[in-house]
Amino acid sequence: MTDQPIPAVAGADPVFSPALSAREGAAAAAGLFTEAFGGEPDGVWYAPGRVNVIGEHTDYNGGPALPIALPHRAHLALRRREDRTIRLVSSQTREAIDVLDLDAIGPKGTPGEVRHWNAYIAGVAWALEREGLGPLTGFDAALSSCVPLGGGLSSSAALESAPAVALDEVDGLGLAGGADDPDDAGRARLVTACVRAENEMAGAPTGGMDQSASLRCRAGHALALDCRTGEVEHVPFDLAAHGLRLLVIDTRARHSLVDGQYGARRTACERSARLLGVELLADVAPAELDAALARVAASGGADADALVRRTRHVVTEIERTRDLAALLGDGRRLTGEKLARVGALMNASHDSLREDYECTCPELDVAVDAARAAGAHGARMTGGGFGGSAIALVDDGAVDAVARTVLDAYAGRGFAAPAFLDAVPSAPAGRLSPGRRQ
Ligand code: ADP
Ligand code: MG
Repeated sequence: MTDQPIPAVAGADPVFSPALSAREGAAAAAGLFTEAFGGEPDGVWYAPGRVNVIGEHTDYNGGPALPIALPHRAHLALRRREDRTIRLVSSQTREAIDVLDLDAIGPKGTPGEVRHWNAYIAGVAWALEREGLGPLTGFDAALSSCVPLGGGLSSSAALESAPAVALDEVDGLGLAGGADDPDDAGRARLVTACVRAENEMAGAPTGGMDQSASLRCRAGHALALDCRTGEVEHVPFDLAAHGLRLLVIDTRARHSLVDGQYGARRTACERSARLLGVELLADVAPAELDAALARVAASGGADADALVRRTRHVVTEIERTRDLAALLGDGRRLTGEKLARVGALMNASHDSLREDYECTCPELDVAVDAARAAGAHGARMTGGGFGGSAIALVDDGAVDAVARTVLDAYAGRGFAAPAFLDAVPSAPAGRLSPGRRQ
């Protein structure tokens, strides 16, 4: 969200960020396209943002994550060109049309560097060619996204995955498969190109979780992703069928120093792995944790205590993530004792991130505490932390009460009003509407 945050007011109605329906999304993107470029697009493609149910700061340690795709999507109306020009326009930025040359663009820090959000979209075309999937043609594209920006819900991966599936189709790469029959192996290759666009063109050193979620999730399921191998399993997470909702609380807090802190956590994990003689902390088995922590503690460094706690978070979070994925995949209904265990794992994840990984912030902790007090089965921060979003697993009928309790708690602390989202586990990136060219 780019608008100025306003203070939370006790007793006010919670504001939900709506997801555009397929029709609305297609109309918004196609309308902008016609206004900007004239004529009709070849089609409108979409890609969702994501929210991670559990498995935080596990990806770069070689562990698992468990994201779902959101109903909030980036919509991209796109028309293939015969030359190598790329023209882009976004309803969010309301900027003039940006014109790029596919032969001249290059990574951040080089003369071909691409400005702001264009880097994500044009970067995917660039990266697909670098992955040996070209040559591609240029294209005109209009973007309309309802994924909140910078809220930890991966508006950036949505921006990459939409052109990936669009170019896959108009340039005949044949990797994405159809909407009813997605080609998971092909999509894994598209993920690689999207990650490359984000790392090299946009200069954001992220792993592949966000792009995997946007391209490889399934509706009604969570994606059990092995971040080391890229292997996935689709575990049932049909909340509506169980009278449940996953409430996202976008704290609107964007704390500075995030990049430095993120880097510091990664470095700590690498150092701990070196001390333990393993490649990645995922190699530490839960049964060996106590012995491993004793070794780290005995290393004698000034920050040995911090290293112990970072290590404990990562190893226990990996175990919690595996446990939660196994629970969801056990074929039993998500009620009673199973639901309580899912909630307890989410709670334990947050507590570990707060105490051991020290990457929460007052806005996240207050949201989580308020949601739990109002009857959430489980609540935790999600994403990298230091701001961004929290999630709460709640009964259908309790959504309003939980949201109001969070809002009141925010008002009491003088925080900005949070935005809420209903995180229905949704479909991966695909085509929204038939276009001129079939
Ligand atoms: P997140 O992915 O968690 O939302 P990031 O910082 O990774 O946060 O990505 C946010 C960036 O993505 C924005 O700063 C902007 O450059 C770009 N972006 C995302 N969605 C849009 C959009 N609809 N229009 C223009 N830029 C966008
Ligand atoms: Mg991002």
